[in-house]
Formats: sequence, structure tokens, C-alpha cells
Amino acid sequence: MELNIIVLVKQVPDTRNVGGQAMNADGTINRAALPAVFNPEDLNALEQALLLKDKNPGSRVVVLTMGPGRAADILREALYRGADEAILLTDRAFAGADTLATSYALSMAVRRIGCFDIVLCGRQAIDGDTAQVGPQVAQMLGVPQVTCVRNIVSLDNSFAVAERSIENGVEVVKAPLPLLVTVEGTAASCRPRNAYRMLRFHRAATPTELSADGFRYTEQLQADEALCIKEWNLQDIAGDASRCGLSGSPTKVRNVENIVFKVKESKRYTAADGDLKALVAELLDNHTIG
Ligand SMILES: Cc1cc2nc3c(=O)[nH]c(=O)nc-3n(C[C@H](O)[C@H](O)[C@H](O)COP(=O)(O)OP(=O)(O)OC[C@H]3O[C@@H](n4cnc5c(N)ncnc54)[C@H](O)[C@@H]3O)c2cc1C
Repeated sequence: MELNIIVLVKQVPDTRNVGGQAMNADGTINRAALPAVFNPEDLNALEQALLLKDKNPGSRVVVLTMGPGRAADILREALYRGADEAILLTDRAFAGADTLATSYALSMAVRRIGCFDIVLCGRQAIDGDTAQVGPQVAQMLGVPQVTCVRNIVSLDNSFAVAERSIENGVEVVKAPLPLLVTVEGTAASCRPRNAYRMLRFHRAATPTELSADGFRYTEQLQADEALCIKEWNLQDIAGDASRCGLSGSPTKVRNVENIVFKVKESKRYTAADGDLKALVAELLDNHTIG
């Protein structure tokens, strides 16, 4: 069975290596101090896609990201590891998007790609950390979703069977296609870059990169369509501007506060019943829980 597989991938600041320079004085992220990386769980999602492709020769894996021009780096990374086609969704109209506006733009781009059997994405991005985008995209596409998947066990013409993590165990779920799956970090790690693919795809570029590059690789690009990273804007996905970017974002950030814990603000509790009761009472009291 030849599958049409789409993987949503996001470039994120590497929040696992936050140093003292990570935040600007005004509370915004100092992106220069945080290297941009492939969102870790999106690599797990890519591997699930490539495993499906291995089992179903002739299948096609398309990677899609919404972000600024530099996000093309993770698309090349996906091509090195086995993706067949890459699309960058980029437009000033998408700037300032919250998860709802991000999901809208991504779902419109998926519609533009056309027929698909399965959309895979990471469970959660390490910067926004909401885990909302996958479920929202599924809802906007009108397809079922299976979240927190650690393994896609099988997939035939009509159904996929997947193992998903739940508290204290694993649930095996059967869901009809087409389907959206969010993949978590316990799933198989992504295969490494392939040396031959690196030689071929290091020249892959978006039209914007090409024009900045003085069309150095134009001839190779004409000879190998897979080297063209597609670049789509709002018009290309027939998007409604009022549902994109800031104007399509109901989330409004009122204030961003830097919190640095000091030693004197920390408390030590033992596992004794009395300590645990005191901790719960304090958390209830200051409305952290309850
Ligand atoms: C008011 C507001 C304004 C914001 N403005 C900006 C801004 O100007 N610039 C900015 O970069 N961020 C901005 N953000 C953050 C942005 O909304 C989130 O990064 C984005 O919606 C994804 O949410 P998340 O990181 O929680 O993803 P999650 O829901 O945790 O991600 C789950 C999965 O969805 C997929 N996914 C998520 N985002 C993308 C993407 N962009 N492309 C492809 N796949 C994706 C990935 O597979 C990912 O693993 C803003 C947020 C808010 C609330």
C-alpha cells in the first residue's frame, strides 16, 4: 500500500540548554543565545513516518513547517534522514500566531498538500509546550486523532493500530484512516542522517534562499525537483488573514515575568505523612492546586 504521509515539524530554541543569557531584560527570549533545533518529539514523529514508508514501499513522506526562513534548516535535516519533500509555510501574516492560528495555517497547508493517509506530529514542542497543535489540526481537518503514541503497530487500507502511553500503562488503539497521530519521546529515536542523502540535499533550498545565494545551484535544482523546498504564503494556502497571526490569536499575553528562585525560598519536605499533608495544604492555600 502506497501511503501519503505528512509530518509537522517545528524549529524551536533549545530550551534544554538554557543559560544565563537566555532571556532579554524585557522578558522576551534572546534567540541569539539559544541555538535553534529540531523539536525533539518531531524527530520521533519523523521516524514513525519513515518506518511506515519502509514497510510500504512507494509511500511518500512530506515534511511541513510554519516558521521564518531559517526554519528551512530543519526541513533539510528531515531530507537528510529520509523525507521525500519539504514545505516551508512562511508569511508575515503568520507572525504572532498562538496555537489556534498556528493550527489553522497548518491545517490549510495540509489541505493544500491534498490527499493524505496519516498526519504525524510531535506530542509537544519544547518552547510553547502546550501540546495543543496536533489535536487542533486534527479537529480542523475533521479527522480522528490518537495522541501520545509510542509505536504505530500496523496500518492497512482502513485502520491504524497504535500503542499510546497512559498513566501507569499502555493503551492499544485502533483508529480509522485518514488520521492524525501525535508521537511522544518514548517512541523510537530518529535514524541518523544518511551520508548519500546529505551529499544530495545539502543543496536543497527555498526560492528565497536561492535568490540570496545568487542562484548558485539553479542548474542542479532544475535537474532534481526534490531539491526545491517549497515556500508557501497565505495566498498559497487560500488562508483567511483574520484567522492567522496576531489577528487570529485569541491568546493575549498580558505580562511576562522572570522568576529566579533563591535558596531561601526553597523548602525541604520528607516523605513523611505530616510533611506531605503540610505541602498539600500549602499548595491548596496559595491556589497552586485545587
Ligand atoms: C499570543 C501569542 C503570540 C505568539 N507569537 C509568536 C511569534 O510571534 N512567533 C513564534 O515563533 N511563536 C509565537 N507564539 C508561540 C506559538 O503560538 C507556538 O509556538 C505555536 O502555536 C505552537 O505551539 P506549541 O509550541 O505549544 O506547540 P505544541 O502544540 O506543543 O506542538 C505540538 C506539535 O505540533 C507541531 N507544531 C507546532 N508548531 C508547529 C509549527 N510552527 N510548524 C509545524 N508544526 C508545528 C509539531 O509537530 C509539534 O511537536 C505565540 C504564542 C502566543 C500565545
